[in-house]
Amino acid sequence: MTPGRTSPGRPTLGPVSAPYPPESTAKPASTSTVAAESEAPAGGLPKRRKTARQWAAETPRGRTRRARQINRELAELYPDAHCELDFTNPLELSVATILSAQSTDKGVNKITPALFAKYPDAAAYAGADRTELEEMIRSSGFYRNKANSLIGLGAALVERYDGEVPARLDDLVTLPGMGRKTANVVLGNAFGVPGITVDTHFGRLVRRWKLTEETDPVKVEHAVGRLIEKRDWTMFSHRVIIHGRRRCHARKPACGACPIAPLCPSYGEGPTDPAVAAKLVKTAADFR
Ligand code: SF4
Repeated sequence: MTPGRTSPGRPTLGPVSAPYPPESTAKPASTSTVAAESEAPAGGLPKRRKTARQWAAETPRGRTRRARQINRELAELYPDAHCELDFTNPLELSVATILSAQSTDKGVNKITPALFAKYPDAAAYAGADRTELEEMIRSSGFYRNKANSLIGLGAALVERYDGEVPARLDDLVTLPGMGRKTANVVLGNAFGVPGITVDTHFGRLVRRWKLTEETDPVKVEHAVGRLIEKRDWTMFSHRVIIHGRRRCHARKPACGACPIAPLCPSYGEGPTDPAVAAKLVKTAADFR
């Protein structure tokens, strides 16, 4: 969806003129799950929100269908979703992802051009002067731990993988600095192997959408992986994370300016007044 485009019965993007659903036209909700689910045509959004009771009674099939519809809506909303870390090969993405812990992608992208030039391969990280390396990555925070990870990563790649980053999750998670989240980022974005990245945004949103109640990231990954087609895992992760950054904030989500509202059991956790909600929406420019 491009800004300004609207569809009947759903919130608009940007300045919004009416709450969802329009209070004056909202009908009493049915208590029948079947009837409620049938109100969601295969290709469109439901015409009215479900009640809490109806959400609680959603069938596994209905949840899968809704998850995929959320994915389609997010794809329209954020057609430019992508990995925001700059990289040209798996090693660079591995390094950038390690540096991004407790830091912003924007901040990491400022550090990495000089870093990648100075350390072009795994052997260069393995033999790095620690003080020099720490100084180059200092602004990303936790620079001592991150320097340890980068030196360890280089050494492990040289010793065990001929200096190449392996393309298997089981191998990646054995490398210094590589948790499962980092490994999935590398797999999905550097190797094209579908992976779900569960960060704090992703976990918060899929729980708000009641796609899962799990809090353990690995369990969240598996639960959502059962709902979303495998080929979409990587892009779904990007879209959910962007939605978390721009609209569905931890505190004060912009519910009144959220196109996912008809599919969201947590609609109303944030302001539903369109004018108030619109002020909470962030754009790509806010992260440049
Ligand atoms: S309706 Fe509110 S809680 Fe639901 S996804 Fe949108 S912003 Fe988040």
